[in-house]
Amino acid sequence: MKKEEMVKILGDKEIQASYHRLKILEFLIDNRIHPSVDDIYKKLLHEIPTLSKTTVYNTLKTFTDKGIVSIVTTEEDEIRYDYSEEPHLHFKCKKCGTLYDIFHNCEILKQKEIDGHLIDEHHLYFRGICRKCRKEKGGN
Ligand SMILES: [Zn+2]
Ligand SMILES: [Zn+2]
Repeated sequence: MKKEEMVKILGDKEIQASYHRLKILEFLIDNRIHPSVDDIYKKLLHEIPTLSKTTVYNTLKTFTDKGIVSIVTTEEDEIRYDYSEEPHLHFKCKKCGTLYDIFHNCEILKQKEIDGHLIDEHHLYFRGICRKCRKEKGGN
């Protein structure tokens, strides 16, 4: 994605496009792997030696608060971040740990309300053995 486009994404949400924010946003857009704070920090550190983990954390918090990025919680201690324009579900493989995006049967995610309750966020995900692991020997 072009720098101007990313500046616009941030600008539309009234976020100042600092160097660190642009780098973190770019990483999330280019790597749809649902990275954790640690993943992002480790991957960007060699490119941005001035980066701190706190900066990554605070930037992600800003992005999340403004709705640019959503949080994916699977195991209790694991928070991963997701840049996605489209609402989708997740599938986590118990074997390889990959978190897959599922773009069908997502109607429920478009609901703003359920049984009169107002929905702010969802933490829905499926677990099982992914198609890749199923094909490998020993998969089931
Ligand atoms: Zn797998
Ligand atoms: Zn996702």
